[in-house]
Amino acid sequence: KDLYEAPDYYQLDELLSEEHLLIRSTVRDWVKKEVSPIIEDYAQRAEFPKHLIKGLGEIGAFGPTIPVEYGGAGLDYTAYGIIMQEIERGDSGIRSTASVQGSLVMYPIYAYGTEEQRKKYLPKLATGEIMGCFGLTEPDHGSNPGGMVTNIKDKGDHYLLNGAKMWISNAPFADIAVVWAKDEEGKIRGMVVERGMEGFTTPETHGKWSLRASATGELVFDNVKVPKENIFPDIKGLKGPLGCLNQARYGIAWGALGAAMDCYDTALRYSKERIQFGKPIGGFQLQQKKLAEMITEITKGQLLVWRLGVLKSENRATAEQISMAKRNSVEIALDIARNARQMLGGMGITGEYSIMRHMMNLESVVTYEGTHDVHLLITGMDVTGLNAFK
Ligand code: FAD
Repeated sequence: KDLYEAPDYYQLDELLSEEHLLIRSTVRDWVKKEVSPIIEDYAQRAEFPKHLIKGLGEIGAFGPTIPVEYGGAGLDYTAYGIIMQEIERGDSGIRSTASVQGSLVMYPIYAYGTEEQRKKYLPKLATGEIMGCFGLTEPDHGSNPGGMVTNIKDKGDHYLLNGAKMWISNAPFADIAVVWAKDEEGKIRGMVVERGMEGFTTPETHGKWSLRASATGELVFDNVKVPKENIFPDIKGLKGPLGCLNQARYGIAWGALGAAMDCYDTALRYSKERIQFGKPIGGFQLQQKKLAEMITEITKGQLLVWRLGVLKSENRATAEQISMAKRNSVEIALDIARNARQMLGGMGITGEYSIMRHMMNLESVVTYEGTHDVHLLITGMDVTGLNAFK
């Protein structure tokens, strides 16, 4: 039974609109009903619960900020954050699927695509009728995507695409891929590659101990003919993919807090029920220290993302502010997950509770969309003006 109760220690709900609260309760109920009862089983079997796609579309998880005319919900960024938070309360892998679809596939098609591309893909992506993935990372270029070797050559009416991408969420089942590759001038270009194009394959990556309920794979391009109308016409350079990552990182800043809240809530309840030495373990100072620090960090994190949401909706949030929030939320979520797991003792390592799954998931979340280190370097560069990346 899913007993989850979201913490709101500082009455932050008062900062949300009626619409935000309504969206939250819709998504929260959906997660309780559809995700929580089945997710552990899928994660244990390392299988993505494909049947959730339709429901994710219905609750508006795919591209909530995309305008209504293209099938989105036209919501503000606070609403988007709330949706990610509630989904990740269920599982980071399911939130990853939604982040990729909305922020990394729909957003670039909306922001960089032609009107034809928008009309062709966005409405179907919004409902989940077609699914997408985002290919930036390569086997030899992760934190340094600018070094990518995947490339396109101009062949008149089409481009010839060669190369490979690695660690791509949703790749094994995606109908389309937003792919970043260098042109003959060495400039990074974005394009839509469709499943079925000759020479395009998506082998699945197996053996993950993290995000087990999310499908990850490679994108392999062997002389793939990409029609010219599939390229994003004007965007060139790293700012293309980085613009998408900003969207997704913003959602993760909220999402990771959802995982943290679930771990805290589970540990709190357990601490009141589990009796050792004749009293609930929650009555021991050592356990109270853990809980007190968890709720403090969650509350600080909630304030940070709430403010970031306001700035983002006003188009004022900087990439550096988003970096700080992503890094902070994931760091505290991991810390909370580790402490919460210990509070459950042996039960904490089982699938009876969600904590160990969150903890393992968060090991991916702390690495993808810019590693913990990379976000620190971004903050460091922002405050000093000095580049410590190289
Ligand atoms: P590396 O870049 O090799 O980093 C290794 C270590 O070196 C890290 O600790 C890093 O912080 C550190 N490091 C790197 N550079 C510096 C530096 N300058 N200074 C100090 N330390 C440094 N990518 C996509 O394109 N699309 C996806 O959908 C996607 N989904 C993913 C799903 C999962 C489950 C995972 C695990 C990854 C996914 N990724 C995806 C890839 C992800 O974004 C990369 O793993 C990430 O960017 C890090 O790259 P890397 O793994 O090559 O590590």
